[in-house]
Amino acid sequence: MNPLEELRELTAQAKEHLRYYGELGLTHIGETSPPAAPELKRQEPLASTIIPLPQFTPGPTITMPTKQENPNAISLFGEPSLFGEAAPSLTETLHAYETLEDIRRDLGDCRRCKLASTRTNIVFGEGNPKAELMFVGEGPGADEDATGRPFVGRAGQLLTKMIEAIDLKREDVYIANVVKSRPPGNRAPEADEVKACIPFLFRQIEAIRPKLIVALGNPAMQALLDTKIGITKMRGQLQDYPRVSAIKVLPTFHPAYLLRSPDKKREAWEDLKKVRAFLRGEL
Ligand code: URA
Repeated sequence: MNPLEELRELTAQAKEHLRYYGELGLTHIGETSPPAAPELKRQEPLASTIIPLPQFTPGPTITMPTKQENPNAISLFGEPSLFGEAAPSLTETLHAYETLEDIRRDLGDCRRCKLASTRTNIVFGEGNPKAELMFVGEGPGADEDATGRPFVGRAGQLLTKMIEAIDLKREDVYIANVVKSRPPGNRAPEADEVKACIPFLFRQIEAIRPKLIVALGNPAMQALLDTKIGITKMRGQLQDYPRVSAIKVLPTFHPAYLLRSPDKKREAWEDLKKVRAFLRGEL
């Protein structure tokens, strides 16, 4: 077995253990008690420090900026690492070696948020697992919910044209969404839904390691860049992906917005030319 396969095997085994403990209702392991309870310590000198078990929902953080580095940051997780903010957790390290199939398996028949009760199909994402370019939208619409595939409705047809306009084919890129179940009535995904689902997108990005992610519209851009700034201010500006600095993010308008506001297509075309230039190494 080569080292990568061995690591995958170990990852799968570690996950199985953690899932097993989770099913037992065990969320903490350890040997000594938390420092916050001095009286308890006196009564029970052998009580243990409780070390939280790693959760599998948060995705990998390779280079997570601190609040000071990114003052616009909103915390999607709020869970500090055991080893301080900069150090990747065990979970994060394990996730760094997984495949899209591993992630899809872990997602399962997801019931982590209320969107599960109204969706027809999970829309995981599709495309080249080694894509240099990834597109991220906000969430499935009716056509995507019916087929289980991202961006297949009218907005999807426009996205396909946008991809072809920069001399690529849809199969060359990877397409995913912030949430994987359709928000009813095509409303924007709510904060709790994004929080439940975004770790899977982060893990997909880690597995694919694209050079560039095009964030389509506000929800995608805000989730990927951990910001509250609006798309109009940010579009067309190449950003570092906060979780992996080698990956860039280019925010642009969502194709559904372009269908409603065709006068914005010129700006979107400028953004797409930037994508092409970046991939050709011209930027
Ligand atoms: N809009 C999105 O944001 N995603 C889809 O998959 C389809 C429409």
